[in-house]
Amino acid sequence: MELAQIGSIVMPMSKEPVHIYKDSAELLKSLEEWKHRLYLDSWIICAGKHDKEDYPDENGHIEFDVSSQTAKLTLLDPWVDDRIEKHYQEEVLVHELLHLKIGFLKPPENMEGTFFDVMQHRLVYQMAHSLIMAKYNLTPEWFRNDERCR
Ligand SMILES: [Zn+2]
Repeated sequence: MELAQIGSIVMPMSKEPVHIYKDSAELLKSLEEWKHRLYLDSWIICAGKHDKEDYPDENGHIEFDVSSQTAKLTLLDPWVDDRIEKHYQEEVLVHELLHLKIGFLKPPENMEGTFFDVMQHRLVYQMAHSLIMAKYNLTPEWFRNDERCR
């Protein structure tokens, strides 16, 4: 199997992002890889799981403090991938980490703030996809979950 070296981390190269991390060791390894890729090495980030009651409609969630550069990232468990776009845990991990770079200022609670929040979130969403596409040499079409359209 082909190996990829990211800083001091050596990882087997797969052709697709990780759909569901098999255990916390795999999740933490991926977290370290993406922290490094995103220039977040100085952050202390722990990763775990949340269930549907904790954050309804959120496959991933991140709470963070910019001053102390600490964050807690969680992924939904059990995982639900029932949308018309593929939702892979590695992509959601990247998405949540991007929130540490983009969108940490809370917009005002008015129409402009809501619009700004939606546009900014779309940017985070698309950038996470772009980074996953770059790593695995995929196209935007790969994310379509055509089976969900039937
Ligand atoms: Zn988000």
